[in-house]
Amino acid sequence: MLKRVDKFGRITIPRDVRHELEIGENEPMDMIILENNGYKQILLKHYDSRCAVCGCKENLDTFNDIVLCKDCIGQIKKELN
Ligand SMILES: [Zn+2]
Repeated sequence: MLKRVDKFGRITIPRDVRHELEIGENEPMDMIILENNGYKQILLKHYDSRCAVCGCKENLDTFNDIVLCKDCIGQIKKELN
């Protein structure tokens, strides 16, 4: 599958590929650069949404792109007061 990068650095993921991989609109994706024998590749995968503090996967929210659960946000707010 040949895709070209546009003038803004974007590549469109075709609809059928998004559907097959269950990639929804505005879904956070993780872009990882892999290097093997000097050959670089980009791996695009579902972002593993977990709380950055406790690692749980429920009641998540984001603060400045940091994923936190509501319990940890509550704890942090208590510590700051
Ligand atoms: Zn947490």
